[in-house]
Amino acid sequence: MRALTWQGTEKVSIEDVPDPRIEAANDAIVQVTSTAICGSDLHLYKVLGPYLQPGDVLGHEFMGVVTEVGPEAGDLRVGDRVVVPFNISCGHCFMCTIGKQSQCETTQVRSKGMGASLFGFTSLYGAVPGGQAELVRVPQAQYGPVKVPEHGADERYLYLSDILPTGWQAAKYADIQPDSTVAVFGLGPVGQFATRSALRQGAGRVIAVDRVDERLALARSFGIETIDLREVKDPAAAIKDMTGGRGADSVIEAVGMEAHGSPVAETAFAVVNKLPKPLARAMTENIGFDQLAALHACFDAVRRGGTVSVVGVYGGAADPMNMMLMFDKNLTIRMGQANVRQWTDELLAILEEDDDVLGAESLATHHLPLEDAPSAYETFQKKEDGCIKVVLKPGE
Ligand code: NAD
Ligand code: ZN
Ligand code: ZN
Repeated sequence: MRALTWQGTEKVSIEDVPDPRIEAANDAIVQVTSTAICGSDLHLYKVLGPYLQPGDVLGHEFMGVVTEVGPEAGDLRVGDRVVVPFNISCGHCFMCTIGKQSQCETTQVRSKGMGASLFGFTSLYGAVPGGQAELVRVPQAQYGPVKVPEHGADERYLYLSDILPTGWQAAKYADIQPDSTVAVFGLGPVGQFATRSALRQGAGRVIAVDRVDERLALARSFGIETIDLREVKDPAAAIKDMTGGRGADSVIEAVGMEAHGSPVAETAFAVVNKLPKPLARAMTENIGFDQLAALHACFDAVRRGGTVSVVGVYGGAADPMNMMLMFDKNLTIRMGQANVRQWTDELLAILEEDDDVLGAESLATHHLPLEDAPSAYETFQKKEDGCIKVVLKPGE
């Protein structure tokens, strides 16, 4: 089959790779009809190179049709139309039963000290081949795959795999009260869904920060107030001004490691990437290439006693944090990977409403054959050509 493979830093290519096969009794094979590129793929593309091997198949946002099932794949049947959560969870361990599927004890990679296995996400997360491919092997198929209606465009449901539950969880973790003010840093696909989720969950006012015209304009079209980083150097101060000096009740961080375009991050990255892999890994964990500007601005922009919800991915194990500020402000901080399967039922019900209130079908700006994935990574990374989200179509 054809699949998108990582070949080196900022280098991906489409290759012929062996078709996946059923390996465990609860596996299924899914033929992919749509698969998206995520901001997390950009971390793999660039910053997390030390964890990848040439030939690794990327992709963790995909949906399609079941073509094969193992004998223990529950009620999944050949022909079912499914969307597959990016974290692989079993549904019956302690963590899954308390709604922390991202920490699934059955699939977690104990040797690496990390949470649940993930599709297309390096050896850190189980080295499971990803979904930017024609076919995918889906472990834990008795629990993970979400059956979606036969009717309706793929894109109505595709984002249940990751960014919609991620944005939804970001808002849930932000402790939104009726009429509270929520600030969102980052208006990539995750930030877009976080702002819409905050409104849907009852926020009175949502203020969002970014520096890309199309992303700011899209947010405004959903009733979000925006701050353009190119014009406002201190967004936290601007948020305080807009909230009577107090700050936002809740702040969501949806930026993550932005190695691209930050001079400090670019320099650190260039140096570390020349080192042998084990050393490069240690450096990645201990420095973090993040410009961290967005993260620190979140702690600044939140009001005293408020909540910061972090969904942007951070890879530096020792990023310097302002503990004094966080302690003194009496903050609540919640973070982590989306527990996708915890939210899919309530989100599927919203997606089935007629009017696509969350705007899922209109999010993607780029629809391309899988073969065009290498240039699509670049376009998405550089935010060129009005690119907000890329959906790839294997077999086209
Ligand atoms: P993206 O790269 O398209 O979006 C990031 C946005 O942040 C961009 O629009 C960029 O212009 C903006 N930005 C950069 N610096 C900023 C700053 N200082 N202040 C405000 N905005 C700034 O990516 P995405 O797909 O939206 O993903 C965002 C983050 O969420 C990534 O780190 C990704 O890995 C992470 N993520 C987490 C989960 C999870 O389970 N927690 C799931 C999916 C994605
Ligand atoms: Zn993703
Ligand atoms: Zn589990």
